[in-house]
Amino acid sequence: MKFNTKTIHGKQHPDLAYGAVIPPIYQTTTYVQTTPGGHKGFEYSRTHNPTRQALENAFASIENGEFGLAFGSGLAAIDAVIKLLKPGDEVISTNDLYGGTYRLFTSIFEGFGIKFHFVGMENAANIENFVNHNTKLIWVETPTNPMLNIIDIKATAAIAKKHNVLLAVDNTFATPYLQQPLDLGADIVMHSATKYIGGHSDLVMGALIVKDKDLAKKLYFIQNASGAICGPQDSFLALRGIKTLHVRMQRHCENAKAVATYLASHPKVENVYWPGFKNHPNHTIAKTQMKDFGGMISFSTKGNDYSESIKLLEKLRIFTLAESLGGVESLAGHPASMTHASIPKAEREKTGVVDSLIRLSVGIEDEEDLINDLKQALG
Ligand SMILES: *Cc1c(COP(=O)(O)O)cnc(C)c1O
Repeated sequence: MKFNTKTIHGKQHPDLAYGAVIPPIYQTTTYVQTTPGGHKGFEYSRTHNPTRQALENAFASIENGEFGLAFGSGLAAIDAVIKLLKPGDEVISTNDLYGGTYRLFTSIFEGFGIKFHFVGMENAANIENFVNHNTKLIWVETPTNPMLNIIDIKATAAIAKKHNVLLAVDNTFATPYLQQPLDLGADIVMHSATKYIGGHSDLVMGALIVKDKDLAKKLYFIQNASGAICGPQDSFLALRGIKTLHVRMQRHCENAKAVATYLASHPKVENVYWPGFKNHPNHTIAKTQMKDFGGMISFSTKGNDYSESIKLLEKLRIFTLAESLGGVESLAGHPASMTHASIPKAEREKTGVVDSLIRLSVGIEDEEDLINDLKQALG
């Protein structure tokens, strides 16, 4: 089955009770037992729920994995991965990272004795400088948020295999439409399904997908034991989102290309970060491991002018000034004060997240309307 069919049919079957084509919302806490332990595989909805299970199967299918797990948020999914570790273990992580991931690592898990190295991974060989016998996990975000750096998943997987450490990839920005990390050698794929997977800015959810049965078992145990699951209503919405993922992503990519090209030609724009440009430092890797270049763009205003950027954001009419990304509507954000405010300024600026940086999540509206909106706001 090809990807565009998997989004609709992958690991799905009509509902067993009445043959409903669409998995019903099983809004139930518990399930009848005929005798103690006599049930149909469902006992309690933290552990299993049929709507969530349909979604978890869809997650596994679209990422070419065997096992999918759904969580109450992207961060809850990351939290479950780090709970595979124990005090003294070390993690090597991408340095340009979603702010909430950085906060979870440093403010919660460092306190439990896990050590994190935040490392520039654009040259994968650099990762090896930080590997030691305590290293248990490499955490990769690619494309990175918000600088749109690209990390070579295959090369990173080779390093992970060589040293017998797990490789997890946050695939939120790319989605499985663009890249499938498990096929490139990753052990765990993570999503903030809040973003492109849900696709309509109407839910908060996380996902993990793995191939290995033992790893899946450990993660299911953590999912149930820690309990950060999502409800059946949100599972239903995410399943519905997945069915149009490929169509939406195609348009996101087309629109982002047009917007990036426009911005790059504008005299009031300093830098445009988009992996589709031939002069993007990791363009070749992007072209190899991704099907297209995604819907995310970051840019800075001429002379890195903070107040110009703020004025621009206030003037946008179709782009909505808001946190988040990946919905059908275009959003604009100011990473330094919004999504990445939890990263200290000095740390932020090392990776390029300067105060004038604007991040766009290019939606699926009409391309000309989007460009005209930027034109008037820059004018
Ligand atoms: C939003 C986001 C997260 C966190 O997900 P939530 O669903 O908000 O908890 C993690 N990684 C990336 C790349 C994100 O954009």
